[in-house]
Amino acid sequence: MKRSNKMIVIFPLLAFTLLVSFLSYYFKHDNVSNTTILEGHHIIYSMNKKEILLPSIEEQHSIAQADIKDIKNRWESESLHPTQWGEQVTGVKNKLETNDHVIALTFDACGGPYGSGYDEKLIRYLRENNIPATLFINARWIKENRSVFLELSEDPLFYIENHGTEHLPLSINGGTAWGISGTKSVEEVIAEVMENQLLISEITGRKPSFFRSGTAYYDEVAVNIVNDLGLSVVNYNVLGDAGATFTSEQVKNSLLASQPGSIVLLHMNQPTSGTAEGIIEAIPILQQQGFEFVTLYDYSLSE
Ligand SMILES: [Zn+2]
Repeated sequence: MKRSNKMIVIFPLLAFTLLVSFLSYYFKHDNVSNTTILEGHHIIYSMNKKEILLPSIEEQHSIAQADIKDIKNRWESESLHPTQWGEQVTGVKNKLETNDHVIALTFDACGGPYGSGYDEKLIRYLRENNIPATLFINARWIKENRSVFLELSEDPLFYIENHGTEHLPLSINGGTAWGISGTKSVEEVIAEVMENQLLISEITGRKPSFFRSGTAYYDEVAVNIVNDLGLSVVNYNVLGDAGATFTSEQVKNSLLASQPGSIVLLHMNQPTSGTAEGIIEAIPILQQQGFEFVTLYDYSLSE
Protein backbone atom coordinates (compact mmCIF):
# COMPACT_ATOMS: atom_id res chain seq x y z
CA MET A 1 0.00 0.00 0.00
CA LYS A 2 1.27 3.52 -0.80
CA ARG A 3 2.04 5.93 2.05
CA SER A 4 -0.84 8.27 1.10
CA ASN A 5 -3.30 5.33 0.98
CA LYS A 6 -2.14 4.22 4.43
CA MET A 7 -2.94 7.68 5.78
CA ILE A 8 -6.43 7.53 4.31
CA VAL A 9 -7.01 4.37 6.36
CA ILE A 10 -5.18 5.41 9.53
CA PHE A 11 -6.68 8.90 10.05
CA PRO A 12 -10.35 7.90 10.08
CA LEU A 13 -9.44 4.96 12.36
CA LEU A 14 -7.64 7.28 14.76
CA ALA A 15 -10.49 9.78 14.73
CA PHE A 16 -13.02 7.01 15.36
CA THR A 17 -11.02 5.62 18.31
CA LEU A 18 -10.77 9.09 19.87
CA LEU A 19 -14.50 9.64 19.43
CA VAL A 20 -15.34 6.28 21.05
CA SER A 21 -13.06 6.94 24.06
CA PHE A 22 -14.51 10.43 24.48
CA LEU A 23 -18.10 9.16 24.31
CA SER A 24 -17.50 6.31 26.74
CA TYR A 25 -15.80 8.73 29.19
CA TYR A 26 -18.61 11.26 28.77
CA PHE A 27 -21.42 8.76 29.35
CA LYS A 28 -19.73 7.07 32.31
CA HIS A 29 -19.28 10.38 34.06
CA ASP A 30 -22.49 12.07 33.03
CA ASN A 31 -24.89 9.45 34.36
CA VAL A 32 -23.53 9.32 37.87
CA SER A 33 -26.51 9.71 40.17
CA ASN A 34 -25.37 8.32 43.44
CA THR A 35 -22.02 8.01 45.20
CA THR A 36 -21.80 5.68 48.15
CA ILE A 37 -18.92 5.39 50.59
CA LEU A 38 -18.69 1.82 51.80
CA GLU A 39 -15.89 0.68 54.09
CA GLY A 40 -14.00 3.83 53.12
CA HIS A 41 -14.12 3.18 49.37
CA HIS A 42 -16.05 5.21 46.85
CA ILE A 43 -18.49 3.17 44.81
CA ILE A 44 -20.22 5.04 42.05
CA TYR A 45 -23.57 3.86 40.74
CA SER A 46 -24.76 5.05 37.36
CA MET A 47 -28.41 5.76 36.56
CA ASN A 48 -28.67 2.14 35.52
CA LYS A 49 -27.59 0.32 38.67
CA LYS A 50 -25.90 -2.39 36.56
CA GLU A 51 -23.08 -0.11 35.40
CA ILE A 52 -20.92 0.16 38.46
CA LEU A 53 -17.39 1.48 38.55
CA LEU A 54 -15.70 -0.75 41.08
CA PRO A 55 -12.20 -1.95 41.78
CA SER A 56 -11.59 -5.48 40.50
CA ILE A 57 -12.98 -8.38 42.54
CA GLU A 58 -9.40 -9.27 43.63
CA GLU A 59 -8.86 -5.71 44.86
CA GLN A 60 -12.23 -5.70 46.65
CA HIS A 61 -11.34 -8.96 48.41
CA SER A 62 -7.97 -7.79 49.66
CA ILE A 63 -9.50 -4.49 50.81
CA ALA A 64 -12.37 -6.32 52.51
CA GLN A 65 -10.09 -8.88 54.21
CA ALA A 66 -7.93 -6.14 55.76
CA ASP A 67 -10.98 -4.23 56.98
CA ILE A 68 -12.63 -7.38 58.35
CA LYS A 69 -9.52 -8.24 60.38
CA ASP A 70 -9.46 -4.74 61.91
CA ILE A 71 -13.15 -4.89 62.77
CA LYS A 72 -12.78 -8.37 64.32
CA ASN A 73 -9.77 -7.30 66.45
CA ARG A 74 -11.52 -4.16 67.63
CA TRP A 75 -14.72 -5.95 68.74
CA GLU A 76 -12.84 -8.86 70.32
CA SER A 77 -10.81 -6.45 72.44
CA GLU A 78 -13.96 -5.05 74.10
CA SER A 79 -15.96 -6.70 76.86
CA LEU A 80 -19.42 -7.18 75.38
CA HIS A 81 -22.66 -7.64 77.27
CA PRO A 82 -25.69 -7.59 75.00
CA THR A 83 -28.99 -6.95 76.81
CA GLN A 84 -31.47 -7.40 73.95
CA TRP A 85 -32.41 -10.49 71.93
CA GLY A 86 -35.14 -10.57 69.29
CA GLU A 87 -36.40 -9.24 65.98
CA GLN A 88 -36.84 -5.57 66.87
CA VAL A 89 -33.68 -4.79 68.85
CA THR A 90 -31.95 -1.39 68.79
CA GLY A 91 -30.44 -0.60 65.40
CA VAL A 92 -32.71 -2.86 63.31
CA LYS A 93 -34.60 -0.97 60.59
CA ASN A 94 -38.26 -1.95 60.24
CA LYS A 95 -39.87 0.66 58.00
CA LEU A 96 -39.34 3.33 55.36
CA GLU A 97 -39.15 6.85 56.72
CA THR A 98 -42.08 8.34 54.81
CA ASN A 99 -45.82 9.02 54.83
CA ASP A 100 -46.01 8.37 51.07
CA HIS A 101 -48.31 5.53 50.04
CA VAL A 102 -45.45 3.17 49.32
CA ILE A 103 -44.70 -0.41 50.39
CA ALA A 104 -41.39 -2.28 50.17
CA LEU A 105 -41.88 -5.98 49.50
CA THR A 106 -38.92 -8.06 50.69
CA PHE A 107 -38.54 -11.75 49.84
CA ASP A 108 -36.21 -14.13 51.67
CA ALA A 109 -34.62 -17.16 50.03
CA CYS A 110 -33.38 -19.21 52.98
CA GLY A 111 -31.71 -22.26 51.42
CA GLY A 112 -30.97 -25.51 53.22
CA PRO A 113 -32.67 -28.91 52.79
CA TYR A 114 -36.24 -27.53 53.07
CA GLY A 115 -35.65 -24.00 51.84
CA SER A 116 -33.97 -24.18 48.43
CA GLY A 117 -37.08 -24.06 46.23
CA TYR A 118 -37.84 -21.26 43.77
CA ASP A 119 -41.28 -19.64 43.52
CA GLU A 120 -41.27 -19.06 39.77
CA LYS A 121 -44.95 -18.10 39.67
CA LEU A 122 -44.34 -15.31 42.19
CA ILE A 123 -41.33 -13.88 40.34
CA ARG A 124 -43.17 -14.12 36.99
CA TYR A 125 -46.10 -12.13 38.46
CA LEU A 126 -43.76 -9.41 39.80
CA ARG A 127 -42.06 -9.15 36.40
CA GLU A 128 -45.29 -9.09 34.39
CA ASN A 129 -46.70 -6.36 36.61
CA ASN A 130 -43.46 -4.40 36.98
CA ILE A 131 -43.47 -4.69 40.80
CA PRO A 132 -39.98 -4.01 42.21
CA ALA A 133 -38.73 -5.98 45.21
CA THR A 134 -35.74 -6.47 47.48
CA LEU A 135 -34.51 -10.08 47.67
CA PHE A 136 -32.62 -11.33 50.76
CA ILE A 137 -30.71 -14.39 49.61
CA ASN A 138 -28.79 -16.97 51.66
CA ALA A 139 -25.51 -18.51 50.45
CA ARG A 140 -26.99 -22.03 50.52
CA TRP A 141 -29.83 -20.96 48.18
CA ILE A 142 -27.35 -19.33 45.78
CA LYS A 143 -25.33 -22.57 45.59
CA GLU A 144 -28.48 -24.59 44.76
CA ASN A 145 -29.88 -22.08 42.25
CA ARG A 146 -26.86 -20.51 40.52
CA SER A 147 -28.37 -19.70 37.15
CA VAL A 148 -31.69 -18.41 38.56
CA PHE A 149 -29.71 -16.31 41.05
CA LEU A 150 -27.66 -14.74 38.26
CA GLU A 151 -30.77 -14.05 36.23
CA LEU A 152 -32.47 -12.34 39.22
CA SER A 153 -29.36 -10.27 39.93
CA GLU A 154 -29.37 -8.98 36.34
CA ASP A 155 -33.03 -7.92 36.46
CA PRO A 156 -33.30 -4.17 37.20
CA LEU A 157 -36.59 -4.80 39.09
CA PHE A 158 -34.76 -6.58 41.90
CA TYR A 159 -32.00 -5.80 44.39
CA ILE A 160 -30.04 -8.72 45.84
CA GLU A 161 -29.29 -8.40 49.57
CA ASN A 162 -27.58 -10.58 52.19
CA HIS A 163 -29.54 -13.25 54.12
CA GLY A 164 -26.50 -14.88 55.75
CA THR A 165 -24.21 -17.80 55.02
CA GLU A 166 -25.60 -20.63 57.20
CA HIS A 167 -28.96 -18.92 58.01
CA LEU A 168 -28.20 -18.45 61.72
CA PRO A 169 -29.66 -16.13 64.37
CA LEU A 170 -27.02 -13.42 64.82
CA SER A 171 -25.63 -13.56 68.35
CA ILE A 172 -22.23 -12.91 69.91
CA ASN A 173 -22.85 -15.65 72.53
CA GLY A 174 -24.99 -18.43 71.05
CA GLY A 175 -28.53 -17.05 71.47
CA THR A 176 -31.28 -19.36 70.17
CA ALA A 177 -34.38 -18.67 68.06
CA TRP A 178 -37.02 -21.21 66.97
CA GLY A 179 -34.75 -23.99 68.23
CA ILE A 180 -31.84 -22.87 66.03
CA SER A 181 -28.58 -22.06 67.82
CA GLY A 182 -27.11 -18.79 66.64
CA THR A 183 -23.54 -17.69 66.08
CA LYS A 184 -21.41 -17.89 69.25
CA SER A 185 -18.74 -15.21 68.89
CA VAL A 186 -17.71 -12.00 67.14
CA GLU A 187 -15.77 -14.13 64.68
CA GLU A 188 -18.83 -16.26 63.84
CA VAL A 189 -21.02 -13.15 63.46
CA ILE A 190 -18.53 -11.73 60.95
CA ALA A 191 -18.26 -15.04 59.05
CA GLU A 192 -22.07 -15.40 58.86
CA VAL A 193 -22.33 -11.96 57.23
CA MET A 194 -19.16 -11.70 55.16
CA GLU A 195 -18.91 -15.14 53.54
CA ASN A 196 -22.23 -14.56 51.78
CA GLN A 197 -21.36 -10.89 51.17
CA LEU A 198 -18.22 -11.91 49.28
CA LEU A 199 -20.06 -14.71 47.43
CA ILE A 200 -22.73 -12.28 46.20
CA SER A 201 -20.24 -9.59 45.17
CA GLU A 202 -18.10 -12.18 43.39
CA ILE A 203 -21.05 -13.42 41.31
CA THR A 204 -22.85 -10.13 40.68
CA GLY A 205 -20.09 -7.50 40.90
CA ARG A 206 -22.24 -5.61 43.39
CA LYS A 207 -22.06 -5.47 47.20
CA PRO A 208 -25.32 -5.73 49.13
CA SER A 209 -26.07 -2.84 51.52
CA PHE A 210 -28.64 -4.68 53.66
CA PHE A 211 -28.51 -7.75 55.90
CA ARG A 212 -31.27 -9.87 57.43
CA SER A 213 -30.29 -12.89 59.54
CA GLY A 214 -31.80 -16.34 59.31
CA THR A 215 -34.83 -16.23 61.74
CA ALA A 216 -34.48 -12.39 61.79
CA TYR A 217 -33.13 -12.58 65.40
CA TYR A 218 -30.18 -10.53 66.71
CA ASP A 219 -28.61 -9.09 69.80
CA GLU A 220 -27.85 -5.38 69.62
CA VAL A 221 -24.07 -5.89 69.68
CA ALA A 222 -24.29 -8.14 66.60
CA VAL A 223 -26.34 -5.41 64.88
CA ASN A 224 -23.54 -2.90 65.60
CA ILE A 225 -20.95 -5.30 64.19
CA VAL A 226 -22.99 -5.64 60.97
CA ASN A 227 -23.13 -1.84 60.72
CA ASP A 228 -19.33 -1.73 61.10
CA LEU A 229 -19.08 -4.19 58.19
CA GLY A 230 -20.86 -1.59 56.03
CA LEU A 231 -24.40 -3.02 56.04
CA SER A 232 -27.71 -1.97 57.62
CA VAL A 233 -29.85 -4.61 59.34
CA VAL A 234 -33.41 -4.69 57.95
CA ASN A 235 -36.36 -6.63 59.32
CA TYR A 236 -40.03 -5.70 58.78
CA ASN A 237 -43.20 -4.26 60.28
CA VAL A 238 -45.60 -6.49 58.31
CA LEU A 239 -45.24 -10.25 58.77
CA GLY A 240 -46.33 -11.23 55.27
CA ASP A 241 -46.32 -15.03 55.26
CA ALA A 242 -44.90 -16.18 58.66
CA GLY A 243 -42.06 -18.20 57.16
CA ALA A 244 -44.27 -19.23 54.21
CA THR A 245 -46.72 -21.02 56.56
CA PHE A 246 -49.71 -18.72 55.90
CA THR A 247 -52.59 -19.63 53.58
CA SER A 248 -53.11 -17.33 50.60
CA GLU A 249 -56.01 -15.68 52.48
CA GLN A 250 -53.76 -14.94 55.48
CA VAL A 251 -51.02 -13.56 53.18
CA LYS A 252 -53.57 -11.34 51.45
CA ASN A 253 -54.94 -10.02 54.77
CA SER A 254 -51.43 -9.31 56.09
CA LEU A 255 -50.57 -7.34 52.97
CA LEU A 256 -53.82 -5.38 53.14
CA ALA A 257 -52.89 -4.23 56.66
CA SER A 258 -49.79 -2.42 55.27
CA GLN A 259 -49.30 1.22 56.18
CA PRO A 260 -47.45 3.97 54.28
CA GLY A 261 -43.75 3.02 54.45
CA SER A 262 -44.29 -0.59 55.49
CA ILE A 263 -41.60 -3.21 54.92
CA VAL A 264 -43.24 -6.61 54.31
CA LEU A 265 -41.38 -9.87 55.02
CA LEU A 266 -42.24 -12.67 52.56
CA HIS A 267 -40.53 -15.71 51.03
CA MET A 268 -39.61 -16.64 47.45
CA ASN A 269 -38.29 -20.12 48.23
CA GLN A 270 -41.54 -22.04 49.02
CA PRO A 271 -43.42 -22.51 45.73
CA THR A 272 -46.09 -24.73 47.33
CA SER A 273 -46.98 -22.11 49.98
CA GLY A 274 -49.85 -19.58 49.84
CA THR A 275 -47.42 -16.70 49.35
CA ALA A 276 -47.65 -16.15 45.56
CA GLU A 277 -51.45 -16.50 45.45
CA GLY A 278 -51.94 -14.13 48.41
CA ILE A 279 -49.68 -11.52 46.79
CA ILE A 280 -51.43 -11.82 43.43
CA GLU A 281 -54.76 -11.16 45.17
CA ALA A 282 -53.55 -8.30 47.37
CA ILE A 283 -51.45 -6.20 44.99
CA PRO A 284 -54.28 -4.98 42.69
CA ILE A 285 -56.35 -3.99 45.75
CA LEU A 286 -53.40 -2.06 47.26
CA GLN A 287 -52.80 -0.34 43.92
CA GLN A 288 -56.47 0.72 43.82
CA GLN A 289 -55.95 2.21 47.30
CA GLY A 290 -53.13 4.31 45.82
CA PHE A 291 -50.13 2.30 47.04
CA GLU A 292 -46.99 1.96 44.94
CA PHE A 293 -44.23 -0.59 45.41
CA VAL A 294 -40.62 0.45 46.01
CA THR A 295 -37.29 -1.04 47.08
CA LEU A 296 -35.28 -0.39 50.26
CA TYR A 297 -33.09 1.98 48.21
CA ASP A 298 -35.89 4.42 47.44
CA TYR A 299 -36.30 5.88 50.98
CA SER A 300 -34.36 6.28 54.21
CA LEU A 301 -35.07 3.51 56.71
CA SER A 302 -36.05 3.86 60.37
CA GLU A 303 -36.45 1.62 63.41
ZN1 LIG B 1 -34.70 -17.14 55.91
